[in-house]
Amino acid sequence: IISADPINDVEQEVKEWARQKKSEIDELRKQEKFRREFLTNISHEFKTPLFAIQGYIEAIQDDEFEDLDMAAQFLEKAAKNVDRLSYLIKDLDEISKLESGEIPINYTRFKINDLIKEVLDSLEMKAKQHDIKFIYKQKYDENVMVNADRDKIHQVIINLVDNSLKYGKTGGSTSVSLFNLHDQVLIEITDDGIGIEEKYLPRLFERFFRTEQSRSRQVGGSGLGLAIVKHIIEAHQQTINVRSTAGLGSTFGFTLQKAKQSPFPAIPGIK
Ligand code: ADP
Repeated sequence: IISADPINDVEQEVKEWARQKKSEIDELRKQEKFRREFLTNISHEFKTPLFAIQGYIEAIQDDEFEDLDMAAQFLEKAAKNVDRLSYLIKDLDEISKLESGEIPINYTRFKINDLIKEVLDSLEMKAKQHDIKFIYKQKYDENVMVNADRDKIHQVIINLVDNSLKYGKTGGSTSVSLFNLHDQVLIEITDDGIGIEEKYLPRLFERFFRTEQSRSRQVGGSGLGLAIVKHIIEAHQQTINVRSTAGLGSTFGFTLQKAKQSPFPAIPGIK
């Protein structure tokens, strides 16, 4: 093709090149900002329990410290903070493995109903401690099978139900519901707790993001639970969302793919 205006063509090319470079630089700046915020957040999350441990140890080491009962209490508090640090490291390790794709998704067919019941059973004691009642609303066939990584979905439900206890209302309830959506099922976890202000919703699934209300609740937590949940659901090519009203409660919902019916008749005795 012979252009009628070669100078204009060159000018257009240079402009296009400059536009591309600018967007590359913008992207690098964004990544750099994200990295810096991430490091600030990590060090903040580690500093809090570390300083607490240091404080309790120094108090006990003080020459004039003689109260044995108080020493035992301080040691217990220090131990709680050690636990918190190990949870943080475990969650960080998990999220970095998930993000690097190091942990593959192992799809199997299983009954989602059984998994939900398992999780609710395992958290029953904790719910009692928080004086929160579990309500499981099955609005769909209890035998429905999904195609997903059972262990990872186990963790997703644990994290969401555990949050509903941490941010729930004493004397309130957590309901879990299972709905049918053509090729998928929808699992919703609803609490009647502190809720989330609308301005926070877009950032909720970011690593280390915690609302002011939850920081002040002293419930302990890494701020990584929802980031892990989102990663797992998206790695399954499924979606997760949240609806919430501050002061009234929240609903977290995620989808899973239904398992296709096997074309072969079931063999008795083999699941
Ligand atoms: P955390 O370890 O802080 O619980 P998550 O990643 O699980 O971390 O949650 C991030 C933040 O989202 C929490 O700190 C809290 O502010 C908010 N949040 C999560 N679940 C709920 C809920 N059910 N009700 C109210 N706030 C919630």
